[in-house]
Amino acid sequence: MLHFETSPLKIVRASRQYLYDESGNEYLDCITNASHVGHCHPHVVTAGQEQMARLVTSTGFLNDQMSEYAKRLISTMPESLSVCFFLNSGSEANDLAIRLARAYTKHEDVVCLDSAYHGNLGSLIEISPSRFKKLGSSHIKKDWVHIAPTPYLYRGKYREDASNPGLLYANEVLTVIKKAKSSGREIAAFICEPLMSAGGIIIYPQNYLQHTYRYVREMGGVCIADEVQSAFGRTGEHTWAFQTQDVIPDIVTVGKPIGNGYPFSAVITTKEIADCIGEFSTTFGGNPVACAVGMAVLDVIENEKLMASARSVGKCLLDGFRSIMPSHPMMGEVRGMGLMVGVELVIDKESRKPASEAAEILAYRMKENKIIIAYDGLEKNVMVMTPPMCFTCDNAHHVVQVFDQLLQEIEN
Ligand code: PMP
Repeated sequence: MLHFETSPLKIVRASRQYLYDESGNEYLDCITNASHVGHCHPHVVTAGQEQMARLVTSTGFLNDQMSEYAKRLISTMPESLSVCFFLNSGSEANDLAIRLARAYTKHEDVVCLDSAYHGNLGSLIEISPSRFKKLGSSHIKKDWVHIAPTPYLYRGKYREDASNPGLLYANEVLTVIKKAKSSGREIAAFICEPLMSAGGIIIYPQNYLQHTYRYVREMGGVCIADEVQSAFGRTGEHTWAFQTQDVIPDIVTVGKPIGNGYPFSAVITTKEIADCIGEFSTTFGGNPVACAVGMAVLDVIENEKLMASARSVGKCLLDGFRSIMPSHPMMGEVRGMGLMVGVELVIDKESRKPASEAAEILAYRMKENKIIIAYDGLEKNVMVMTPPMCFTCDNAHHVVQVFDQLLQEIEN
């Protein structure tokens, strides 16, 4: 296995979709979805600075920013999701979501997908099978964790040619729950992203979540949507990615983009579920600066029509990659929605064998060409792009053109 320069790039400043190193080199950022509306967006920076000069912390007291932001966030949600909790990271949000599910259902167990990543707290590593490998063989699946296959039409158990794959994959979840039940275990929650990010940008088949949510509820569990990566219009279709599957979760978790890079996260749920938690307190969650920043992010998304832009720029990326695909034996699949785009690299299109080493080399060569792109997925062979939402079609054309040239060099 070849290993390329492992030292991360040192970045000293950033603006919009660009990063700058110590020597003033400019890099096009295709990966930082936490800087949702663009790195250091002036409206967000001003909101944060002004709030920091006024009131930074108000633990144990009410503050206007928190109540105003809570109202605004909830107004973007389906009516049933009417209560929010504020925290500081996606991991904290998912941890609270699991606690809420357990308190409400009085059950213990959780079903997750086999390519999932939900965070780095102890409880969440247990339900992030995509990271099991990295943790080594000493990591043993816990009894309360049940793993269902990711609905991955390119590589999974059921492929593009299956009829009604959404139902087939939902049936897999039901089988997992029934198996757990037969050994005396009860399901508190099913957790997944509404489309999978770290697992390699996997778009689920139609109706998958509708069928799955129905089964989970019938079996006494609640449904958690991890929107840590996919929220706030990134799919270009709706504010929330769960809307692309036409479902309403019981609990939604939000992270990265909510604060445009400022540590902030939220859990939004129903009143019935929220009422089960008892005391909830956090020192920094929902502090006035976070909420002021969060409001500014929502302003920018609206004022700059970033959701519509994600749709059209995402299409530029997808169309661009699809247009070069026939001339590349290593481009197995191009997939995505809005500004979540993945290109799966394979040894050859027939075998679909993952080309993990090529992905690593390509990411490295792109960086040399001042484009930052990730490679991810279980086999680390999917080139992943989740850029700030101010990414343009010109940026997209540039990325495709450089990708085309560099991949050709690797293929030859
Ligand atoms: N859920 C998903 C889908 C994520 O991608 C991540 C972070 N990459 C998390 C949860 C955890 O968020 P954080 O790193 O802010 O704790």
